[in-house]
Amino acid sequence: MTVTRELINKLKVQEVLTKDEFIYLLERMTKEDSEVLHEEAKKTAQRIFNNKIYTRGLIEFTNYCKNDCYYCGIRKSNLCVERYRLTEEEILDCCRVGYHLGFRTFVLQGGEDGRYSDEDILRIIKSIKLLYPDCAITLSIGEKSHESYLCFYEAGADRYLLRHETANVSHYGKLHPENLSLANRKQCLWDLKKIGYQVGAGFMVGSPYQTKENIVEDLLFLKDLSPQMVGIGPFIPHHDTPFATYQAGTLEQTLDLISILRLMIPNALLPATTALGTIDKTGREKGILAGANVVMPNLSPTGVRKKYALYDNKICTGDEAAECRACLDRRIANIGYQLVVDRGDFKPI
Ligand code: SAH
Repeated sequence: MTVTRELINKLKVQEVLTKDEFIYLLERMTKEDSEVLHEEAKKTAQRIFNNKIYTRGLIEFTNYCKNDCYYCGIRKSNLCVERYRLTEEEILDCCRVGYHLGFRTFVLQGGEDGRYSDEDILRIIKSIKLLYPDCAITLSIGEKSHESYLCFYEAGADRYLLRHETANVSHYGKLHPENLSLANRKQCLWDLKKIGYQVGAGFMVGSPYQTKENIVEDLLFLKDLSPQMVGIGPFIPHHDTPFATYQAGTLEQTLDLISILRLMIPNALLPATTALGTIDKTGREKGILAGANVVMPNLSPTGVRKKYALYDNKICTGDEAAECRACLDRRIANIGYQLVVDRGDFKPI
């Protein structure tokens, strides 16, 4: 047996690879190895989730942001963005539509918008929980204090998505301005975990200056943090950012990493991201066949969707929520899976 196959087998039996082994695997995997890896990851996901795919309704409620991340289309310095924020009523409207379409998780995502105070966020969480007590709320609103995270949790927020973006300090510095630090990002993740949230970390595949070593550091950090969710998707350039002319991440590398993560954390909730569906027409389906088990279609009002452009050519920006739901239902049924009406919580094994 080749060394790469041995390493895939090691992953399969939950052995942690060393840094050098991971690098060897990432550098030497052949196309056939990659197919074997995807197949093993798919089998692992099916063993745990059968053919069920969980779905989350994504509500992009503000594109105002005080940060200036070099990769992101809604960074503060991008003056071409038409900014918007949804009112509480508009957010609840998205939930109402989503609930009737079968969503039982709402993800509130936004830029870091100082206009929403903690009290505002608390009110929104409580209103959603009051109207839809059988639904989970996921927040994805960036770096906050331990105190804020705690009060959101106590008000009923169940999960929090905060990608670490890269686990390497110098790489982090190449993607972010000086006022942002990896140390704080990581601290936030540990705080969230300790408070009791189901936590999602993750990174962009093929982000500018990312090396294989960086990816290995990401994998080892994820093993250490052991989050309940891991969001990875390809980096895609946005034309009005400093990274406008950089290459996008590839489908192949994203799929390989989804599979590796599935084998490393078998019961993790792993989305086939919109970014993956953007670089390849059937990217999300391919993600599922490589071990992903979550999709996160957009529930934002059609009128604002184009304005939440983190990267170029984002899919589904013109469709109504119901169309997205029907389209995904069909796509997922086509590959032999089923979108389920379920909160889709993390379950320890
Ligand atoms: N403000 C929140 C939400 C960020 S948007 C926060 O700080 O967590 C969600 C994710 O989109 C980011 O974490 C980043 O990994 C991803 N993203 C941003 N720009 C991108 C790009 N150009 N290509 C691909 N993914 C991108």
